[in-house]
Amino acid sequence: MIHHPGNVFVVSAPSGAGKSTLAQRLVRSVPDLIFSISFTTRKPRPGEVDGQDYFFIDDERFDAMVRENGFVEWVEVYGRRYGTGRAWLEGVLATGRDVLLDIETTGAQNLRQAIPDARMIFILPPSAAALEARLRSRGKDTDEQIRIRMQHARHEMELYRTYDYLILNDALELAYRQFESIIHATRAARERMTPVADRILEGF
Ligand code: ADP
Ligand code: 5GP
Repeated sequence: MIHHPGNVFVVSAPSGAGKSTLAQRLVRSVPDLIFSISFTTRKPRPGEVDGQDYFFIDDERFDAMVRENGFVEWVEVYGRRYGTGRAWLEGVLATGRDVLLDIETTGAQNLRQAIPDARMIFILPPSAAALEARLRSRGKDTDEQIRIRMQHARHEMELYRTYDYLILNDALELAYRQFESIIHATRAARERMTPVADRILEGF
């Protein structure tokens, strides 16, 4: 189990729900919130940078990290593996900053075991039809890929009950404000603020 001063936020969503749109804006706007950089065995896509989007590693290195208990959680999706590096996460949390992890639902359940006070956030699309329309308008996938993503989306949606917060991403601005509010409310929670309050109290 990881003991840490920073907060851990996990965000999951079926592909196309708007997770990247919301999460990227959030880490740009909220101070001291770091976007997690996972390790993966998949190849970089055009424009992706090692150490920024992911740490791109080969299977041997991934195997070695699994053996050395180097992951807080990891999963295999269609033959590619993704994992949250333990040393990376502990390093950031030790600085007192918060971390936002973008991980799929299975990994999120495992992360909950390692970090029970992680705040788990799920982004809901307005409907199945709206999700499909967003995938089409994004223009990144073939018809077949969209069909597979929609099947997978149903499986991911069924796990919404295991999350602490559900953000309906219909009107983008409202969804964003809710997301930001969750971060700020968690930071203001009494159990988090007790050391600060005690320090102030000592001055009286
Ligand atoms: P994800 O990261 O969850 O796969 P993206 O952030 O890439 O999803 O969003 C999928 C598509 O939907 C993008 O084209 C994005 O601009 C669009 N989108 C995101 N949020 C909304 C919203 N609230 N209303 C309409 N379109 C949206
Ligand atoms: P992509 O290959 O499109 O970047 O990511 C595919 C999926 O892997 C996304 O759903 C993303 O949330 C998930 N993912 C990325 N990094 C991790 C990780 O470290 N652990 C887990 N469990 N999932 C991850």
